[in-house]
Amino acid sequence: MTDLTPSKMAMVPFVSVHDMMRIVNADGVAQTIAAIADRIEADFLRWEDFDKTPRVAAHSDEGVIELMPTSDGERYGFKYVNGHPANMGRGFQTVTAFGVLARVDNGYPILLSEMTVLTALRTAAASVVAARHLAPKDATVMAMIGNGAQCEFQALAFHHVLGIEEVRLYDIDPDATAKAARNLASTGLRVTSCATAEEAIAGAQIITTCTADKKQATILTDNMVGAGVHLNAIGGDCPGKTELHRDILLRSDIFVEFPPQTRVEGEIQQLDADHPVTELWRVIAGKDAGRTSDSQITLFDSVGFATEDFSALCHIHDAALRTGFHVDLDMLADPDDPRDLFGMVNRASGA
Ligand code: NAD
Repeated sequence: MTDLTPSKMAMVPFVSVHDMMRIVNADGVAQTIAAIADRIEADFLRWEDFDKTPRVAAHSDEGVIELMPTSDGERYGFKYVNGHPANMGRGFQTVTAFGVLARVDNGYPILLSEMTVLTALRTAAASVVAARHLAPKDATVMAMIGNGAQCEFQALAFHHVLGIEEVRLYDIDPDATAKAARNLASTGLRVTSCATAEEAIAGAQIITTCTADKKQATILTDNMVGAGVHLNAIGGDCPGKTELHRDILLRSDIFVEFPPQTRVEGEIQQLDADHPVTELWRVIAGKDAGRTSDSQITLFDSVGFATEDFSALCHIHDAALRTGFHVDLDMLADPDDPRDLFGMVNRASGA
């Protein structure tokens, strides 16, 4: 009888949501974010090794579905991700994702993974990488505006990696703030729930905006942002979807992941196409300055870039093999004679 057991080479490790949670809880949420942050930073340092392209976006009235590919010449990775701001009200996640990592030399996938949880981890990791280079060194208080799915990951990352002691929460929906306060209660962070965005930013040296609305919103107006603050703007990540008043951008030094993508998707879509911005990798590599004065307003105009997902996938690949928290998927056809694909199908009919 034909042996239909797939060979080991053709099996692809799959990290389900369940396995992702097992990996993250075994290693620690904060520790996982810190490890991904180190990977992101190391990969930013070899920026020129990567193929880079703006993500491919399919827009609809309700949201966007995007593909985010990149390769460093040895490995190829991509993420499928959606952004549907109205989803939350319908009982669905605003953002869901999965991704693949593959070998470049033979094109075989080496990992298929859920990336909804992983995106929250990597977005928090990217935020602290930027803040490490841009935020005031003595920052202890962060305002967190938008207390949805990403919120606690961001707060925990800033606490663990940057030493933020207090997070001041605000959301238009008090239930979201209550949820985040509950989840952050035993993290060591001092958590203050606020009734307005103005109250949340009082005394904060870092302001993270992480709201979801498919429009040009004004989560922060110009008068709300004082000198010396670091803005970590997460939620404006699509054409026609921004969070900051344009005047804030004109007073800020702006740092971005990949300009061709951010110019279309980020807060800077509100500015002229030649408005000066600094690529974050150049700051990390010491080629350009980050924060240069106490009074400077720094803005990380985050939209999420493919290399960050690549870094996160590489981390999870290693962690899945180390912990054993994955299942092997029979995902690749593997006939004994590579040319005899038809014969393999034929033989299976009589098995
Ligand atoms: P979510 O829907 O779970 O949470 C969004 C929260 O924002 C909700 O609780 C909502 O009540 C609140 N909100 C909406 N309008 C507000 C306002 N005017 N003031 C205060 N709060 C307001 O979404 P999420 O998964 O947390 O994602 C948040 C945003 O971040 C989305 O826009 C998403 O596309 C974006 N995002 C960006 C990246 C990145 O890499 N930059 C990664 C992931 C998600």
